[in-house]
Amino acid sequence: MTPVAPLAGAPSEDLEAALGVQGQLPPPQSGSLVVADVTDLGPSLRQIRFRGRFLQGLRWAPGQDLMLRLPQDGEHMVNRRYSIRRADPYAGRADINVVMHGNGPAARWAREVRLGQLVPDVVGPRGKITLDPAADWHLFIGDDTYLPATLAMLEALPPAASARALLEVGAPEDEQPLETAASAELEWLHRGASEPGAPEGLVERLERLRLPDGRGHVYIAAELRVALRLRDLLLARGLARGQVSAKGYWVRGRPNAQRGEPELPS
Ligand SMILES: Cc1cc2nc3c(=O)[nH]c(=O)nc-3n(C[C@H](O)[C@H](O)[C@H](O)COP(=O)(O)OP(=O)(O)OC[C@H]3O[C@@H](n4cnc5c(N)ncnc54)[C@H](O)[C@@H]3O)c2cc1C
Repeated sequence: MTPVAPLAGAPSEDLEAALGVQGQLPPPQSGSLVVADVTDLGPSLRQIRFRGRFLQGLRWAPGQDLMLRLPQDGEHMVNRRYSIRRADPYAGRADINVVMHGNGPAARWAREVRLGQLVPDVVGPRGKITLDPAADWHLFIGDDTYLPATLAMLEALPPAASARALLEVGAPEDEQPLETAASAELEWLHRGASEPGAPEGLVERLERLRLPDGRGHVYIAAELRVALRLRDLLLARGLARGQVSAKGYWVRGRPNAQRGEPELPS
């Protein structure tokens, strides 16, 4: 994977294109998937395992996602994106972890999902933010929606890599185990009584965090406004734009757009 310069002339609201690491990533495939397993990993985190022909031989980079086309109501469909937590291209299966919240189309689908259920229209792998092989150190910051991508990336790091992650979850029971060959420190922050998408926890922790020496890469995904604040904090501390890959995964009080991306009200 070769990181190259951020895309020139990208629309400013497209954080991924404006700030993400663009590499030689595998082209997306599409097809149908079948739900092979459903496991609750914690009070607000549900793992869904898919099987499907297009997952056989799937090439993907940790940090990438699947885009599921799901029913919004009786008539309309919406796209919703979920990071690949792990995939086994030999067995033709992949896992996603869904944060259970509210009553949006994806949350509803995940609540009601049944073994053997077909998801007829899935595209992946999607996404351009993945590990920067040139980084001296890696820092991951995000809320629970970034847990699956963060753990997938941490697990893919080689033994010589140095990494740190700050992940906010609703409660201690939502914390997940990590197995990585890298030298990695994973710190869990608990939201407690705060609303999801409140910036305080992650922002205050980042303000106190000492960054290692050398040229590192910071990967951020969270509620859109929180992701922007975290990115701005790092830029204000002197990191170059190319060192920070930030993306809003959802936006407080507003459904993601039909294409699965969060948008700020204009
Ligand atoms: C590239 C990418 C990868 C992603 N990977 C994951 C992943 O691995 N796991 C995961 O759980 N999510 C992930 N997300 C986020 C997920 O796609 C959004 O949370 C999405 O909005 C959920 O769709 P929905 O139909 O349930 O809610 P929507 O219809 O989008 O929104 C309905 C309401 O729910 C609120 N809402 C949406 N998400 C949350 C949340 N997390 N917590 C609290 N309130 C919320 C909205 O503010 C809105 O008020 C990812 C997003 C992107 C763009």
